[in-house]
Amino acid sequence: MQTNKPFTYKIPENLQGQLERGMRVVVPFGKGNRLIQGFIINFKSSSENIDNIKEIDSVLDLEPVLNEEMLEIADWLSKYTFSFKIRCLQVMLPSIMKAKYERKFTYIGEQDEKVKELFSGKSDLLGSDKKVNSSTINKLLQLRKQGKIKVDYIVKNKAKAKLVSVIKTKLSLQEYENELGSIAPNASKQKKLLNTLKEFPVGSKIRQSELREKYNFTNADIKNASEKGWIDVIKVEKYRDPFANYKSYYEKKHKLTQEQSKVVKKLDDDIENDKARVSLLQGVTGSGKTEVYLQVIDTALNQGKAAIVLVPEISLTPQMVKRFRARFGTKVAVLHSGLSIGEKYDEWRRIEREEAQVVVGARSAIFAPLKNLGVIIVDEEHESSYKQDEMPRYNAKDVAKWRGIYHSCPVIFGSATPSLESRARAQKGVYDWLRLTKRVNNQKLPKVQIIDMREAVKTSPIPDFSLKMVNSIQEKLDKKEQIVLLLNRRGYSTFMMCRECGYVIKCPNCDISLTVHLDSRSLKCHYCGYETRIPYECPSCSSKKIRYYGTGTQKIEKELKGLFPQARILRMDVDTTRKKGAHEKLLRTFGDGKADILLGTQMIAKGLDFPNVTFVGVLNADTSLGISDFRASERTFQLLTQVSGRAGRADKDGEVIIQTFNPDHYAIKLAQNHDYENFFYKEMELRHNLNYPPYYYTLKITVSSNSESLTARTIFKINNEVRMNVSKGTIILGPTPQTVTKINNRYYYQIVIKYKKETKLINYLQDLLLSSQRIEREGIQIVIDREPLKFN
Ligand code: ADP
Ligand code: ZN
Ligand code: ZN
Repeated sequence: MQTNKPFTYKIPENLQGQLERGMRVVVPFGKGNRLIQGFIINFKSSSENIDNIKEIDSVLDLEPVLNEEMLEIADWLSKYTFSFKIRCLQVMLPSIMKAKYERKFTYIGEQDEKVKELFSGKSDLLGSDKKVNSSTINKLLQLRKQGKIKVDYIVKNKAKAKLVSVIKTKLSLQEYENELGSIAPNASKQKKLLNTLKEFPVGSKIRQSELREKYNFTNADIKNASEKGWIDVIKVEKYRDPFANYKSYYEKKHKLTQEQSKVVKKLDDDIENDKARVSLLQGVTGSGKTEVYLQVIDTALNQGKAAIVLVPEISLTPQMVKRFRARFGTKVAVLHSGLSIGEKYDEWRRIEREEAQVVVGARSAIFAPLKNLGVIIVDEEHESSYKQDEMPRYNAKDVAKWRGIYHSCPVIFGSATPSLESRARAQKGVYDWLRLTKRVNNQKLPKVQIIDMREAVKTSPIPDFSLKMVNSIQEKLDKKEQIVLLLNRRGYSTFMMCRECGYVIKCPNCDISLTVHLDSRSLKCHYCGYETRIPYECPSCSSKKIRYYGTGTQKIEKELKGLFPQARILRMDVDTTRKKGAHEKLLRTFGDGKADILLGTQMIAKGLDFPNVTFVGVLNADTSLGISDFRASERTFQLLTQVSGRAGRADKDGEVIIQTFNPDHYAIKLAQNHDYENFFYKEMELRHNLNYPPYYYTLKITVSSNSESLTARTIFKINNEVRMNVSKGTIILGPTPQTVTKINNRYYYQIVIKYKKETKLINYLQDLLLSSQRIEREGIQIVIDREPLKFN
């Protein structure tokens, strides 16, 4: 059970004077005195009798891992997002610092034969031992009940810095010359070594591996030199550099366009005057927003301040990182999920020790422990990936604003298609509104054509491709220009259906149809991972007429190969990018011109900046309009605008074709004209009429369990309590089952609360969070989500 409050422990004699707020300690907890990891959040001295208070077992850190700011963030975050405080403390640290626990079984009674066998004659047994499986565990737990063995929990701290050997030169040039004079004339290897060493100033550090590889010295040579007193061999902390293969090059600042200079000047002023203002930088695709970020960061660095740049995980490509490395070199630290936990820890250490001042990363990089922030930038601020899907359900943009105030520094939200919330705040003057209306070098935005698929199917060679699309692709292929094709997969996938009886094959655990995977000839559930072979006949009526419907990237790839046998095609989707580094490799191949067509899902829409791409095709614009979410139009508009922005970024003109069954939908028509402003006004009107954000705040409560009636009973009970605790004007939707009601054999029901101002409700929800602990033991889960970004 998560106990959402601090506990008091005694400081043992041997730790007195050594502990500080923000350090991790190991403490005995609960009736069994299980050892667990805790954080020191405060001290108090007491004259009262403290005999009954437990003692801290041991300390895990020599220095605090959470500073005062982090402790304050955790306080605020736990209240704001209805989360347990321990989760908020943990989310700010590299995952390697979450202690691992291991059970240790020790035999305490007399040995009998059965036990001897279990323990293989030893006196204790670790939970991680190969011999320990679930049946052994049961036997062990039985023995514990009989008082024959005891169980301890050992806390393992995996956060260890990696060390490497380096040599340190000890003598001056003159002293090395003297040594050269005193060695045997035929000791040529030693002579060579001394001649090498004398080139370095006293105290220089050289990696042993460098001495071996570059100068051909052996370990024996080095050992010998150390024994002679020429050098010291020491161990230093080694950082695992994930981008080591990307040799950095230096890049000069661009001379800013007029629009850019105006924006940069305003932001520089904010930095210099310690203004905690939020600015919305609304700039069309290719307008040079990144160049603005780079120059603004430069200003912060010149003032001795640090910077955080958040980018969506998927845009955090080597191409992107390179631009920051090229400007700021080793001052840049990169944090993203592609790193191993060891690599993440190393980057975190570099930030902590103030060796890196510019942090570029995905969502959780917002917690980077930089001490003197000068600016915080959130690129593609409309992206829903800034919101975490699990507790703590925080939005990195809220944390950015919090830290902006704490450090008195500006926060920049950048996007070509801002979220309605941000754009509305800019309208009201809550944020400063900065704009870049033109592409760099006055390059035109690409011309966008819309194809009405209801008509086009009549002449199209195959249903997925209109004739116009086929002709345009061929034209670009002939000109040796590159092509990006988007298959909009949101709320859409390929499924199996029987043409005889209409039966659709669904996941046995979830209320959703299974997705066809042609490469493995299987059907998979994208919610729970269930997998089965593609059947040859209908499981319901045994008809052989069972076919797949809908369009997947694999099917399109096959069709493309048929239409353009000469073209080199790359496919980018969840399947081809699962392996670490695969995403980057595909992009590099395309960037190097080793492919003609890049076919992909949503993940190709963002951030790509390839000068030879002159054509973008959207195969199915509509699918994201169909999802049951009030943001469906906004998401569709954003996607189409972003993907169109990939075309014609250099000196060649770009062209875009969008295929749709809804050619008159405003989200599609306005995307055709890159008309964000009119989209904003139109969408605001709808949101106003339907009482949605940004006119109302939203909050979602979800209940799940593996019994549908228990789930329903619980959500109705909560619903009644909520209704008693809201103010007039607050609107409650539901309770309703979620669109996908059953996932992995659990049933999900929800209510959505739309409100303008609430205090009583917030208090009630804090209580609900605490009571959710109790019923969690009955298998019921309650999730409270403030400002959810998913509503289905
Ligand atoms: P955005 O982030 O708004 O899509 P970028 O910052 O990626 O735009 O800029 C698009 C391209 O223009 C990049 O290749 C960038 O190097 C280049 N660029 C940006 N600003 C300038 C400038 N002032 N002069 C010349 N080139 C620029
Ligand atoms: Zn059938
Ligand atoms: Zn499933």
